[in-house]
Amino acid sequence: MPLPPPTATIRTQVSLPLRFADGYATVARVFSFDGLVDGLEHLAFGLGDRAAAVTAREPGSAPLVRPHSECLTGDAFGSQRCDCGAQLREAVERIADSGGYLLYLRQEGRGIGLYAKLDAYALQDTGLDTYEANVALGHGEDERSYLVAAQMLRALGTSRIALLSNNPDKASQLRRFGVTVAELVPTGVHLSASNARYLVTKVRRASHTLDLPL
Ligand SMILES: [Zn+2]
Repeated sequence: MPLPPPTATIRTQVSLPLRFADGYATVARVFSFDGLVDGLEHLAFGLGDRAAAVTAREPGSAPLVRPHSECLTGDAFGSQRCDCGAQLREAVERIADSGGYLLYLRQEGRGIGLYAKLDAYALQDTGLDTYEANVALGHGEDERSYLVAAQMLRALGTSRIALLSNNPDKASQLRRFGVTVAELVPTGVHLSASNARYLVTKVRRASHTLDLPL
């Protein structure tokens, strides 16, 4: 039996017009919450026609949801060490097209924090992969919990979702926390010379469903 997450409630919701560096623009409804278990300031960005996505009858037409882990270097500065910025940009447009939510989770560096992520980058420059580097710093390979994501979805009245992700851990955790993952929708591959090793590691070590030309 999945455990229902502790109840969180919507605290504020405001409209936020978005414009990305490439000119793509849309309007998000941004939600903040009370009662999230880790006390962090996670956000939900409602995009597109969410009401239509929720009430649509056909199977597979559940609202499209992407839990995106904050990556300051990739999201805000376009770092090429990872694919986070490109994934965020892609997710916003795809969700706006089909209706759903982008959950912006404050889980920098797979939950180890920004400074520790930079320390891990320094270790990766000596030959460790992204998971080994986190462990060498005394952290878990991946410390992210998606319990807050389940709490946010419940507060938004969304218990059944199409999950936009290549990460099988996101699906299994959300299911464990009572979210019905009706469909898994893979994200695109954002491969560059700088992030190739990082993407290959995600596939080999954490079973991400990325179709890479290995
Ligand atoms: Zn990143």
